[in-house]
Amino acid sequence: MNAQYDVVIVGAGLVGLSLAPALARTGLSVALVDRGSISDVDSDTEGFDARVYAVSPGSAAFLRAIGAWQALRCERVAPIESMHVWGDGGGSIEFSAYDLGERALAWVLEERELRAALLRTVRRATVELIGNATLDAIAWSASAATLKLADGNRFDARLVIGADGARSWVRQAAGIVAEPKPYGQTAVVANFACERAHHGRAFQWFRDDGGVLAWLPLPARRISMVWSAPDALAQSLLDENSETLSARVAAAGHHALGALECIGSSAGFPLRFLRLPTSVALRLALVGDAAHGVHPLAGQGVNLGFGDAQTLAAVLAERGPVSDAGAPVLLERYARRRAEPVLAMQAVTDGLARLFGPPTPWLKSLRNAGISAVDRLPLLKRALAQPALR
Ligand SMILES: Cc1cc2nc3c(=O)[nH]c(=O)nc-3n(C[C@H](O)[C@H](O)[C@H](O)COP(=O)(O)OP(=O)(O)OC[C@H]3O[C@@H](n4cnc5c(N)ncnc54)[C@H](O)[C@@H]3O)c2cc1C
Repeated sequence: MNAQYDVVIVGAGLVGLSLAPALARTGLSVALVDRGSISDVDSDTEGFDARVYAVSPGSAAFLRAIGAWQALRCERVAPIESMHVWGDGGGSIEFSAYDLGERALAWVLEERELRAALLRTVRRATVELIGNATLDAIAWSASAATLKLADGNRFDARLVIGADGARSWVRQAAGIVAEPKPYGQTAVVANFACERAHHGRAFQWFRDDGGVLAWLPLPARRISMVWSAPDALAQSLLDENSETLSARVAAAGHHALGALECIGSSAGFPLRFLRLPTSVALRLALVGDAAHGVHPLAGQGVNLGFGDAQTLAAVLAERGPVSDAGAPVLLERYARRRAEPVLAMQAVTDGLARLFGPPTPWLKSLRNAGISAVDRLPLLKRALAQPALR
């Protein structure tokens, strides 16, 4: 087979799945390729997925525009109505959706639910789905890129989009060299039933070992935990049975919601930082984790990816007389529009991770005093919250 498309997206993760229908609407011919199968997930299970996302109101609006938000089951979506953050030495700050004029600071969604909704949207759009594909090579030329598969098939594309995650093969094939930098931390995730109602509150504790513990509300009396812990501590948490893990997590969160009971199993994700010199090259654009890596302490990884997808789709929709989807002028426009929001989010998340890293006493006093001071300045607080909301 030697097919031709305007755009070939490599990677059917959440970001690739959101970009494909957004691009199909602009009249471009689109193929979505993944090394795994691009099949429906069973979202009708009773249990809760350990992997959850805090989806910002800005991302929710994008998902609504492509028709995916409407496909979510509302009983599996939990709003974060307020968020309380504690420093490692008595400082604290609280954000409230009500004060910021929002219905929710973010919406907590399970990966499985979000994926199922996006797959339904992709299936309704005019997108060629090519699963279980092993990419062998890409030949870049001035007029097109040719993707060669291990089974001998070839696709020509005016534009290749790398949505293939942090260790992006497409990025390497384009010669953009960057090694994700380990934080020396692993995010341990698990869900818990809690003794007391959370009332839509999210909790976050910066710990004096440099780690960050977050509890996000799930529907009813349940929470999802993301504990970004130094690797050795993370491993000890992952080795615990569910009773001991529940007791350790409840104690680390000062029993803010009473006793906890682990539901389902825990999982660990090594954390890495990635900053690239560029997110575009000849006939290439990178989106999602292929384009940037951030610490999950602000829960912004997938939101940045949805921002990439939304911006790239908008740039291609507004292409006017430019018929070539891979025209340098369009790719440069995309890169320019994403540079500032990505850099700003990386500076904030990486900066916070570093600020709370060292146990130096004077720095500890300063950072905790700083947090509490910001809490007393509503305008500054609002300014800090805006990028995360959008
Ligand atoms: C513990 C943890 C908690 C997080 N919590 C949040 C949160 O609350 N909110 C938030 O916004 N973000 C969060 N994130 C970040 C978020 O998970 C990622 O930013 C997001 O999943 C990236 O999506 P993606 O589609 O870019 O990449 P991926 O999800 O990695 O998808 C990549 C896809 O590409 C495919 N692929 C890879 N290589 C190839 C290849 N060679 N050929 C073909 N296909 C290929 C893969 O099969 C996969 O389908 C969290 C991250 C962690 C680790």
